[in-house]
Amino acid sequence: MLYEINEKALKLESEGKKIIRLNLGDPDMATPPEIVEAAYASMKAGKTKYASSYGETRLRQKLAEAHGVKVENVVITPGSKWGIFATMFLMMKGGGNVIIPTPYWTAYDLTAKAIGAKTKLLRTELENDWKVDLEALESMIDKDTRMIILNNPNNPTSKVIDPETLDGIVEIANKKGITILSDEVYGTIAFTKTKSILEYDGACRHILSNGFSKTFTMTGWRIGYIIANKMLVDNITKLNQITINNVPVFIQDAALKGLELHREIASKIKEKYRHRADLATTKLAAAGFKFSKPDAPFYVFPKLDGLDSEKFTLNLLDKGVAVAPGTAFGDYREHFRISLTAPDEEIEVALDKICEAAQ
Ligand code: PMP
Repeated sequence: MLYEINEKALKLESEGKKIIRLNLGDPDMATPPEIVEAAYASMKAGKTKYASSYGETRLRQKLAEAHGVKVENVVITPGSKWGIFATMFLMMKGGGNVIIPTPYWTAYDLTAKAIGAKTKLLRTELENDWKVDLEALESMIDKDTRMIILNNPNNPTSKVIDPETLDGIVEIANKKGITILSDEVYGTIAFTKTKSILEYDGACRHILSNGFSKTFTMTGWRIGYIIANKMLVDNITKLNQITINNVPVFIQDAALKGLELHREIASKIKEKYRHRADLATTKLAAAGFKFSKPDAPFYVFPKLDGLDSEKFTLNLLDKGVAVAPGTAFGDYREHFRISLTAPDEEIEVALDKICEAAQ
């Protein structure tokens, strides 16, 4: 339904209808000019050849420093989506199951299905502040469980996992010998402190997935990375060798520039999204929606009792606003996801239409 809505929105746009698109997590802002300039300079310097399938050493070094790991624990991937696919492919080949708390980012489930693995979904609820029930998690683990996927902060709820719950999840995973894949792509621009999976174990028992898309507004550049034990890094590199070979070096150079300017860029972006989140939560609360206040950019996942989110989403699309139905993130029929990734004025208009449609 997520992709269906997007196609429909594009079709309506091609017919000349104005659609405010709040259905995808693709920031409206441009990539910072310093990053674009760095890519151009790198291309002009001839960095347009095949290169290492691990990624460029200077970028890996910078990431290793930032995360407190060794260079051998870092591999560069074309977007974090590919890193997640490669990790799941390597860890789940030949079967097994993966535990995914819901609501989830759709790609985890679709990837598991694509590679023939089973998913076990662990429901969390707005009414319980989206907390993972540790007892339920432990009882779900069986002899075929190979992995738990955490998304911290979460898409679609923008909720950061509280440190006590995360401690509990890691303790259970360690006791049972299960690897955690922690997708922290919204982590560095979160409004509240987000405890990384790497804080538990510098030896990389668990796996971090991260990228540049959200922090640096680089969704179309396709660059991300995985931090893991050396064996998994080597195996992802082998997969890179037989598929993409390497992320273009000029894109890696651009990402490196982003990391150098990280503090300025991330704080500016965070402020912008915080303002949008405040705007959205004020309007939605006044209209009677229930939701948890976003801990991070860029989503709000409101609930309205009795809502049929697919009907609501289609109806809203006819009124010129695209959002994503809750059913795209698991069994969440009464919810829908608003992505605050359009100019402020458009977001205001869209929020008014959303609130009106819910009356
Ligand atoms: N993880 C999550 C939770 C996401 O929401 C997204 C993008 N929507 C990604 C990963 C993919 O990001 P990338 O552009 O780095 O592939």
